[in-house]
Order: sequence, then C-alpha cells, then structure tokens
Amino acid sequence: MLKFFNTLTRKIEEFRPIKKGKVGLYSCGPTVYDFVHLGNLRAYVFVDLLKRFLKYKGFKAKHVMQITDVDDKTIRDSQAKGKGLKEFTDFYLKAFLEDIKELNIKEPDFIPRAIEHIREMVVLVKKLEKNGYTYRANNSIYFKISQFKNYGQLAQLEKQDLKKGASGRVLKDEYGKEEANDFVLWKAWQKEDGENFWQTEIGKGRPGWHLECSAMSMKYLGEHFDIHTGGTDLIFPHHTNEIAQSEAATGKKFVNYWLHNAHLLVDNQKMSKSLSNFYTLRDLKEKKYHPLLLRIILIKIHYRQLLNFTFNEFEEAKAIAEKFINFLTNLDFIQNKESNNLKIDFLINHCQNAFGKALDDDLNISQAFAVIFDFMNEINKLADRINVSQAGKIKKFIFEIDEVFGFIEKLDDEYKKFLEKKKSVEIKQLLKERQKARELKDFALADELRKKIEGLGLLIEDTKEGFILKVRDFLGKI
Ligand SMILES: [Zn+2]
Repeated sequence: MLKFFNTLTRKIEEFRPIKKGKVGLYSCGPTVYDFVHLGNLRAYVFVDLLKRFLKYKGFKAKHVMQITDVDDKTIRDSQAKGKGLKEFTDFYLKAFLEDIKELNIKEPDFIPRAIEHIREMVVLVKKLEKNGYTYRANNSIYFKISQFKNYGQLAQLEKQDLKKGASGRVLKDEYGKEEANDFVLWKAWQKEDGENFWQTEIGKGRPGWHLECSAMSMKYLGEHFDIHTGGTDLIFPHHTNEIAQSEAATGKKFVNYWLHNAHLLVDNQKMSKSLSNFYTLRDLKEKKYHPLLLRIILIKIHYRQLLNFTFNEFEEAKAIAEKFINFLTNLDFIQNKESNNLKIDFLINHCQNAFGKALDDDLNISQAFAVIFDFMNEINKLADRINVSQAGKIKKFIFEIDEVFGFIEKLDDEYKKFLEKKKSVEIKQLLKERQKARELKDFALADELRKKIEGLGLLIEDTKEGFILKVRDFLGKI
C-alpha cells in the first residue's frame, strides 16, 4: 500500500488517486533569474524520484512544473543587465533544462511559462472578484484572507497570527509568517516595472507570484488534482496562498496530497552567497564532480530529512556507484552456460517485493538501497555458479529498479565507453611499438605485439603502404 506524509494533515496517509491508475502531479519550478542551486536541485530530484516510483508502480503520471519568468526578481535583474524580460529569462530557462538533464531528471510533461499564461491568470482574478474575495487598493488587486475560512491550514497558522496580519497588505512576492496579510493577485504597473506590464481587463500590470501557480496548475491538471510538491520553504506563503486562491475561485478542494522536501544545508549552514557556500551544478562540474554522483547524494537521504551537503559526500556516492558498476561488470563476464539449481528467480522476486514495500512507505529510500545491497551481496556469493541466462535476468532486474533510482544504467554505459577509450589508447601505443619493431626488422617482437593487439580485439593486415586494422569477431563468426 502506497503511503505519503501529507503536509495538509501532518499524517502518513494511503495514496488514493482521484482517477484509478492516474496521477496529476504539480511541482513549483524555478524562478529563472539565476542558475538553480543545490537546494533547488534537491526539490527537483525528489519529485523525479516520486514520479519514477509512481510509474514503476504502474500509475500514469501527468507532471506539470511551472516556470516563473515574471516576478519581482526577474524584473529587477533583467533591468540591471539591460535585457528584455523574455531574453533574460530564456537564458536561465535553457540552463535549468540542461542542469536537470545532467542529473537524469525526467523532463516534466508540461513546463508552462508564466508570461504565456497571463490570460488564464486574468480569468482567475475575475472569478475571485465575482466571488467576493478581492478588493482594489492603489489599482492593485488583493486577496482578502479573512474572507477565506480555512486560510493558513497548510501552514498551521494560529488564529492570532491571522488577526494580527489581517489588517494589512503585502505587495511583495515573498514574505514571512509574521506578515500573514492580504496578498496581491494583480500588481498595478509602477514606474520601476518599465516595459514589463500587460494591458488587460483588470488593469495595466502584472500577476503576483502565487497567482501564477494556481492558474497554470489548474489549466493543465484540472481544478482538483492529486499531488503538489515543493520545498518546505514554500508552505508559507506560496502554497498557502495557492490553496486560498484556487479554492475560493472554484469552491472545490484544490489538492489532495501536499508533499514537501526538507532543506539542504552546506557544511551545516544555510547556503548563501555571502558565506561562499552557495553552489550550482555548474560550480561542482568545474570542480570535476560527476553530476550523477550529485544525484546519488541528493536521492539517498529521505526527502523529509534535512540534507547536510559536504564534499565528503562524493566519496560515499562514488562507493555506491562503483558497487553497482562492479556488480554489473562481473555479470557481463560470466561465461558458465551449464544449468544449475540456483533459485535466482526466488531471490529476484524477494528483492523486488522488499524494494517496492520500502518505497511504498513514504519513499523510504534508505531501506530501498539496503534491500538492493543485500541482494547484490547474496548474488556475489554465488558468483561462478551463476549461468549466462541467470546473469541476464539479474541484470534486467537491476535496470528495472534503476527506472526508479535513475543513475545505474547511465553510469554503467559511461563506464563501458571509458573502458573502450582506455583500450584504444593501449592499442595505439602497441601499434606504435610494432611499427618501430618492423622498422628495426625485429620481426619476433613485431609478431608478439600483433598477437597482443589481436588479444584486444583487432586484426592487423600488413599492406605495402602500412597496415589495415579489422575488428575481430565482430557480430560473431559467420
Ligand atoms: Zn508554485
């Protein structure tokens, strides 16, 4: 039975999709004004794991991740660089897509951009106006939180917080709990906005950040959908306000399950540019760390646990990666074709069940790794008694679970390419030595070197001009 911790109820609950076999999944994506940092990447790796496991379980998941390309920060920074908002955000959107690809994060099915959904946002504000949840002040439109009965349920805001706050308004996109005030839906144009405005039925201006997610999630997933994810820092105000806007507009429950990933610290400190502990994937690549090792680091700690990132983590991630690669390489070299009585199917089934059970339990990833490591240890003990067809089955199983982990097959492929490259360097060296031996008329040495090269898989045919290389036994002997 699949269970998740639902932030809305602060309980572990059985997952029941609205439509059998299908899951509507929404994640808050990046604000594209800079490269995404490790904390952001943790959130995207978490939802990738969730999505991959849902697919592994046979669900058809429709995943939407929005791009915030108009807000206080994107406007501020695009102006500072003297660029148009679209041109400025295009650059960081492209970088974001490159980064998630390197971490083998599957691209969401829909990646809607806020600036392409202004019409939907205007429609939503008009609905809220009609339902009596808004008021205007200085031409901006605000959401009246006192009008919405369940305001603050997700963030467990105390009634007194609301009372204190309800007297004021906030125009900023981001604010703290102590500012539980009426929030802005539509910001009237100000001089500082420059060219960044839309002339609409509700006035000249631009949307508030929270409005973007309500409009885009409901457009692609409907007014009521299954799962919404994000980092815990988004619980308030962002997700709290998303719920208020969406439910006030539709009169329906917005989302059934809210899943939040915990923070990421660097060396036990909050990541910040001033502490020089602020990292992007690009920074780590410059330091020659493999992106998939970062994926392992981000994935192996349970999503609701605080993740303390240190560079030592790469050692452990490397050990995990090598454990899998060695395991698969050994299977590749098994040559025993004789039948045996080993109960490989039983071991695979047992592991498969334990793996599914672990992740069913609110994505208990450490348990999932533990059962796979146990399985590999068992198989390693049987080593030379395993036959070729059994080795194939085991490999197939590892690639199946990698549909969830998302790093094993890719690393294994890269390892094989690396081996080939190493081999070609060795062959080149041997060819050079053989050429020299022939020039010195040391035919015994030349012959010995030819045999070595053949051993590495290449035949040599000497010609008047020099020699031709032929791949040996490629496609088998015909
Ligand atoms: Zn959002």
